[in-house]
Amino acid sequence: MLVVMQSHSTPEQIDRVLAAIRQMGLTPHPMPGATRTAIGITGNTAAIDPRTLEVLPGVLELIRVTKPYKLASREMHADDTVIRLPQGTFGQRHFTIIAGPCSVEDESMIVRTAEWLMARGVRFLRAGAFKPRTSPYAFQGLGLDGLEILRRARERTGIGIVTELMDTESASAVEEVADVIQIGARNMQNFSLLRRAARAPRPILLKRGMAATLEEWLMSAEYLLSGGNRDVILCERGVRTFSDHSRNTLDLSVIPPAKALSHLPILVDPSHGTGRRDYVGPMALAALAAGADGLLIEVHPDPDHALSDGAQSLDFDRFERLLAQLESLAGPLRRVVPSPAGNLPSLTSPESGRCTDRH
Ligand code: PEP
Ligand code: MN
Repeated sequence: MLVVMQSHSTPEQIDRVLAAIRQMGLTPHPMPGATRTAIGITGNTAAIDPRTLEVLPGVLELIRVTKPYKLASREMHADDTVIRLPQGTFGQRHFTIIAGPCSVEDESMIVRTAEWLMARGVRFLRAGAFKPRTSPYAFQGLGLDGLEILRRARERTGIGIVTELMDTESASAVEEVADVIQIGARNMQNFSLLRRAARAPRPILLKRGMAATLEEWLMSAEYLLSGGNRDVILCERGVRTFSDHSRNTLDLSVIPPAKALSHLPILVDPSHGTGRRDYVGPMALAALAAGADGLLIEVHPDPDHALSDGAQSLDFDRFERLLAQLESLAGPLRRVVPSPAGNLPSLTSPESGRCTDRH
């Protein structure tokens, strides 16, 4: 349910509505907008008599939200969510690129990649310190040592860090280093992890589970939003189908319905979505054309010797060519792609300059 306040409603009137909602045993979620405040209500709203809220001073109307995901839905939040970080913006015509190796392998490859990316205007580095691997014998990531390497790369270059949180035990360590916390496909429905991530003071990049419907994915986003984290970015990374010509089937057709049903920004991961470096470029361009808000893409200084996902990783030359192609496509589509120009604030900790909004 959504309470829409009148445009001239006072803070006292809003407080009174919030108190009335709490008195009913429900949770209010105030959403200040450019012209008026709306208040989302979650909990068991079935038994509410809408008139009890409708008659309160300052209330314009009550809208019943029909979708099972409430806070993630456009019904409740008509405007696009825009997440602004010092290194870049997710949403609002920006096509933001997060690039880097699958795993943190050692400090020199991470710093080299971070410096290369920053020089080309790509201001978010992805790299897993904790890796969810199908085989227990495969490289599992450097864990806390990997996080320390990411922290140093951030300090040295100012690049934003995107790294995966795999379990609740490492949440405090990950949120200290990460500018954006990634929840991987295999954990999309790890509800205790989602509840913990909801409390992290960082935006969450929520990958789509490999067999998840759009509704299930948005319900997982709802765990994050209802737990208090409004900064959620969806990431399509391919799903399992009968097709065996690529690692997964990158479902770009999910972008228009995701945008229609939800206000959350959506990125595309063409690396896990295809599993082969020669398929990554075309699908990255297709993602831009289909209306995605950016990419999560695997780039490695020496993909043939990568410790994980080398086959789907681009080397710097290939990535540079893709950036140029994205730039030429972005112009006619009136989208903003990363560019080397522009000053960055100097960053020493993930706290500095952090700001987000949701207009
Ligand atoms: C990754 O981004 O390296 C990763 C493991 O992704 P996914 O969870 O989509 O498989
Ligand atoms: Mn990977």
